[in-house]
Amino acid sequence: MEKEPVFRKVVGGTTEDKRTFLSWTERQAGRTAEDLLKGKAVEPTPEEASLIVRAVDYANGIAQLYGSPRLFDKARVFVVDEDVDFLRERSGGYGVAKSSSLVDMVVVRRTQSLVAFAQSIAHECFHNNAYHAAQIRSDDTDKNYRSGLALYDRENDDAYFVKAQEAVIAELSYRLVTEVLAKSPEYKQELSDTESVKVWLKTFMQKYATVSVEQLASDLKSVDEVVALRGAHEMLKTLQSDTVSDDQKFEQVLESIADQLKEDRTVVRERRNEREALGAVIERVVVAANSPRVTKEVVFDEFAKAHFSGNYLPLARLVEEALGKGSFREISIELGDIKSKTTE
Ligand SMILES: [Zn+2]
Repeated sequence: MEKEPVFRKVVGGTTEDKRTFLSWTERQAGRTAEDLLKGKAVEPTPEEASLIVRAVDYANGIAQLYGSPRLFDKARVFVVDEDVDFLRERSGGYGVAKSSSLVDMVVVRRTQSLVAFAQSIAHECFHNNAYHAAQIRSDDTDKNYRSGLALYDRENDDAYFVKAQEAVIAELSYRLVTEVLAKSPEYKQELSDTESVKVWLKTFMQKYATVSVEQLASDLKSVDEVVALRGAHEMLKTLQSDTVSDDQKFEQVLESIADQLKEDRTVVRERRNEREALGAVIERVVVAANSPRVTKEVVFDEFAKAHFSGNYLPLARLVEEALGKGSFREISIELGDIKSKTTE
């Protein structure tokens, strides 16, 4: 597969610096799984292999739609069934999936739910086929200054729009579940049973709520966050039987969800805080714009386009037309991770 280079733009440095940098990135992208994962990649099962194809095809289609010329190669998705160094997070724990645009690789850990497995792969592909730009500096040359929606200021360790980026990616990966897998024969039943269990739980909670209105609203939202439940069919059968009371059914199901969460946190949707933060900003833009042309979907699409095409300008224009001059910078901070803000 003929491939677009990871960095669509390289700034700074001399022509010679640029050449050295680009040949280094080429060498990185050519590294093998043996080298990177020390032989720990496992052969995907046929079902996993088919989900890898579907997740990558879906991600590439979406990325192209929003203006990215860089497609991800499915042969660069590697499955592991143990914690490997590559999956280590800054916090010290291990993630379920991770990608590196530089070495052009997605690594995903086998999870309990195949739906979540596919969602994680799409998520990492979306990091990979985003717009990337690099800046060559004399001290260290190998860091991004643009990676998708996120803009990094290495001087201060600031990352503008980094929350918006995770929110956009989480939303688009979830659509793989709702728009592709939920319609496919293999996952249709599990996902529609999961939805029915959620409806039952929410109806029960609304009917017998003994908590405050705010608490109830937040509890209902938590139920909405569930993606796929293992054994959803059995749960549903329990809920439909009349051998036990509704109270008991409710407790049984909640307990089972809690157990599944303990084993595999991918039972629920990704990046809730980031999605809520982005949702709040989009809402503000829509209300202020007060135009039938500016819907939530339109604003979301502009964030997605900026992520994949690299062009911030249409998004900036849309935001500033609605919220006023300077508001684009303000939301880049609000939806960012800004360390140097302490003096404000
Ligand atoms: Zn991510």
